[in-house]
Amino acid sequence: MKVINSIIELKTIIGTLKKSGKMIGFVPTMGYLHEGHLSLINMSRQDNNITILSIFVNPTQFGPNEDFERYPRDFEGDLKKAEESGVDILFTPSSVEMYPKDFNTCIEVLGITDKLCGRSRTGHFKGVCTIVLKLFNIVEPNKAYFGQKDIQQAEVIKKMARDLNLTVDIITCPIVREKNGLAMSSRNVNMSNEERMAALILSKSLNEAVNMAVNGEVKTEKLREYLIKKIRSEKLADMDYVEILDAETLDYMETVKGRILLAVAVRFGKTRLIDNVIVEVK
Ligand code: AMP
Repeated sequence: MKVINSIIELKTIIGTLKKSGKMIGFVPTMGYLHEGHLSLINMSRQDNNITILSIFVNPTQFGPNEDFERYPRDFEGDLKKAEESGVDILFTPSSVEMYPKDFNTCIEVLGITDKLCGRSRTGHFKGVCTIVLKLFNIVEPNKAYFGQKDIQQAEVIKKMARDLNLTVDIITCPIVREKNGLAMSSRNVNMSNEERMAALILSKSLNEAVNMAVNGEVKTEKLREYLIKKIRSEKLADMDYVEILDAETLDYMETVKGRILLAVAVRFGKTRLIDNVIVEVK
């Protein structure tokens, strides 16, 4: 595995790979790698000749009161996991490499970013789109892999790719969970044992709401109320949002039908977690 932190150096290698017709798969991450990240790497390795993983804790996607400083980092551990999972090139640029002093551009996708995390985290998706487009331009991937765990992010990136005629294919991969149902996240390590136990309410209540929908409950508000009540029953849970939307458009619907998304964002202590389930309702 090659470890590269210079944009120019990476672009030179990419040029050579492209000339020899290699298919490039790309997995952008903020590091502190877990099985969720590794599943994206696996997918990329199956589909492409070369897999490039980036690790960059992108400051512009964190709000002023968010957890940029507390975001977990473990370069040595990540290096080992990336190497063991068969990554060909690990790109780990510094902040000054990505955002030199005179950097003055941002990418904003409108509409779809007005809801869910976009509503609670002002400017978050501007930061995400800017860094992802910049990374796409450096890596020139044929395919890029994103997790359903951050479903809105994957949809926003797809919209950006369509609107700006990018040639990269955006692939969404399933959520990887702990055995107890907790969706894997780098942020899980920041929670106490008590908070981690409390956080199980997310997957549990989402699954229960899915069962209600599958068993004939069609009223969105009924399902939403159930989720809210269930999550509120957990003392340590501080709710940000609970939404039930069309899984493709992320639009609100009064009665559920087709592929629906049940998505939640909840704080446990200082840690904000997101989770979701997509289900097909006949
Ligand atoms: P992050 O490092 O948290 O920014 O995540 C990098 C990529 O990994 C994103 O596309 C995430 O959606 C994806 N990801 C994070 N957690 C999981 C998970 N539990 N299962 C699948 N993909 C995930």
